[in-house]
Amino acid sequence: MRNKRILLVNPWIEDFAAYDFWLKPVGLLYVASFLKHLGVEVQLIDLMNRHNPKLAEHTKVPKDKYYGTGKFPYTEIEKPVVLSFVPRRYKRYGMPEGLFREKLREIKDNGNVDVAFVTSTLTYWYPGYFDTIKVIKEELGVPVVLGGFFVRNQPHLATKSGAHIFAGTDLGYLPRYLNNLFGWSLPEVGIDWFLNLSPAYELYDNIGYLVLITTLGCPYNCTYCIAHRNWERMKFKPVENVMEEIERFSKMYAVKDIVFFDDAILINAQTHFKLILKEIIARNLNKEFRFHLPNGIHARLLTQEISDLMYEANFKTIKLGYETTGKLQDTTGGKVRDEDLIRAANILRLSGFAHKEVSAYIMVNLPEQQVKDVEDAIDVCTSVGIDYSLNEFTPIVGTDIWIDLINKGWLTGLEDPVILNNTVLPYWWNNMTFDQIQKLKEYARIKRREL
Ligand code: SF4
Repeated sequence: MRNKRILLVNPWIEDFAAYDFWLKPVGLLYVASFLKHLGVEVQLIDLMNRHNPKLAEHTKVPKDKYYGTGKFPYTEIEKPVVLSFVPRRYKRYGMPEGLFREKLREIKDNGNVDVAFVTSTLTYWYPGYFDTIKVIKEELGVPVVLGGFFVRNQPHLATKSGAHIFAGTDLGYLPRYLNNLFGWSLPEVGIDWFLNLSPAYELYDNIGYLVLITTLGCPYNCTYCIAHRNWERMKFKPVENVMEEIERFSKMYAVKDIVFFDDAILINAQTHFKLILKEIIARNLNKEFRFHLPNGIHARLLTQEISDLMYEANFKTIKLGYETTGKLQDTTGGKVRDEDLIRAANILRLSGFAHKEVSAYIMVNLPEQQVKDVEDAIDVCTSVGIDYSLNEFTPIVGTDIWIDLINKGWLTGLEDPVILNNTVLPYWWNNMTFDQIQKLKEYARIKRREL
């Protein structure tokens, strides 16, 4: 009997705006590795891979901007009806539909797959997931399994995609799930997928940068974040495995940029991140590659030693999670105060980092946040000579802040996720107005000239 065959698809993003800030479907690539481990033959179509060599034959692909990031190609599409009040153009980002269908037909002509897996992330991108599933079903006629964050967060809505849904994070259940669903007899294995396997980057034709995760989970409890609910406890990938992944995949694709997308890479830094940094330096990888931390590290946990090692290891992007000033710093979880950010900024400047290389995430439109809280946060950053980016708040279903918003009557809890999109929120929500947010963006532009 031949091995089972599964196609893995990273779906389209449908939104008003999207940017490839080192987006790779790392979870899906771990699923691919796990399936290979079970003896399944896997193939990948990443609709969001801007570095796919075939893409340029079908659409104009915007050039890379910095360190492999850049704009996605897109097609303008109709807005979902529920978004008709938003005066902006809605787009499908990623691979053109014609090329996607062509690839699916090739797969069908070569004997087809038994099942297709589609992954998901942000809940308000679900129209893109549904459209991806529809095209797969039309072309391949095989069952589709939808997994990922959207499914865990919105299982009832996810079932409307027409796919089977896999709502777990523990891949250990996957063989039983597939055996029950399709009458297969995949082996049940006791392997820890995160610690023992690597994301299956070998399935790509090309990648413009490498994204890795060296830890899973976060011990903080920020009220606006769901990351700490995703994993029961933190896991740390053995340093030797991290180094092996860097060396193997960077050689495979001659990438220059390596990105760590951990939620909390500075936890237990003495026994984890510090050792990774030392190995990067000892193996001279700092001469070949640029490293990036785009996921908001914890300012309070940063030490001069780690900062100096990061500098020596050729880190070029360091984001600090700052979010806001004022009383909300405490009421949203207390992960950082102004003095932590100032201290971290000074440490980083002392190591030699330039202001362009370090920036703080500042959230805008948090419930009960005042315009002044955001202005003050911008002022704190400029006073210590680091850059900043403003991120508009979106309430994530299941977070403490979302529950609180329902209790206060700000939300019903039944909103379609697309109207919780941070681009859409200011058009109907009475926290900060659209104009106030635009003024804050202008304030941020003006203050940046002082850097
Ligand atoms: S915002 Fe950051 S620190 Fe807070 S819970 Fe989420 S990942 Fe952890």
